Amino acid sequence: MISIKSKRYDRLGRYHGLGESGLSRLRDAKVSVAGCGGLGGSIITMLARYPVGEIRLIDRDVMDETNLAHQALVFEHHIAQLTPKVVSATEYISTVNSDINTKSLFDDIRSNNADELLSGSDIVIDGLDNFATRFIINDWCMKNSVPYIYGGLVESEASMKVVVPGKTSCLRCLIPEPPEPGTVRTCDAYGVHLPIIPFLSALMVDAAIGILIGNETENTGAVIEVRLGVEGSSLRILGASAAQNPECPTCQGKFEFLDSKGDNRAISVCGQNAIAISLDTEIAPSSLTDTLGADFNVSVNPYLIRAMDESNSLVYTVFSHGRVTLEGSDDETKLRSFISKYIGN
Ligand SMILES: [Zn+2]
Repeated sequence: MISIKSKRYDRLGRYHGLGESGLSRLRDAKVSVAGCGGLGGSIITMLARYPVGEIRLIDRDVMDETNLAHQALVFEHHIAQLTPKVVSATEYISTVNSDINTKSLFDDIRSNNADELLSGSDIVIDGLDNFATRFIINDWCMKNSVPYIYGGLVESEASMKVVVPGKTSCLRCLIPEPPEPGTVRTCDAYGVHLPIIPFLSALMVDAAIGILIGNETENTGAVIEVRLGVEGSSLRILGASAAQNPECPTCQGKFEFLDSKGDNRAISVCGQNAIAISLDTEIAPSSLTDTLGADFNVSVNPYLIRAMDESNSLVYTVFSHGRVTLEGSDDETKLRSFISKYIGN
């Protein structure tokens, strides 16, 4: 009897650009997807159909109701359960392709854990929504000679770029410093035209497959800009951007974002009335149930504890990976006093 698995990659392998040799290279590949929300989730739906050896999923957030409209791996039952995005992504992959070894990392990528989270990756694909993390990943990938695929989108516009260390420019060649919060448009504030998400993720998966099977093209390293929607559709390939910027510190071996160890500055969450701090320590959410329960209405699961101050419309969330957020205010003092009173850090 012929097994299902022997035929499952038939159509993918028949494509002359991939073939049996390409499929076989993918079986050895270890792919990290950083950020498993709208863009990352869409990347995962496609990537999981290939015989990828390992997919490592890294994301720090849980589902909320606003994710239902545009995130492919979010289902209604996840909302009430405060399910981490990496958990639903892992369930998805194991359901559609049990050949893939999936690693689920509910964590916040920081300068001091990037090695632990990303080591061993053959490529890092970006499904993130913030530049602070992207600059750490760009540094890490350049330092460790691991290709990185940047992607970003807002409204009906998207852009992407492949970074191949030693061959192309890096993200910092194009954007010398992370934009200040509030200076760039975000999906939280400006929304998203749904079709741009699978469109961009298709371009990124196409680029990732090309790199993993050793098929780089003249466009590798170029910036690709795509627009759909009411303003009309376009796709532009900006080839000149593949050239390194001679002023780029990362390309000169100065990994400033990766080297800023233990930085626990409060960071406002783009486009939201919210603020976050990473404490660089693991926290058992259930250990805070009694303390927080005395003063707040709390929800707890193995990944987080959420404390609601309903009279002031404030929500504090303490994640097991050490990130603490305050929604409803961007007052850093409020968040720091909450941390010192209830977590003692
Ligand atoms: Zn550079």
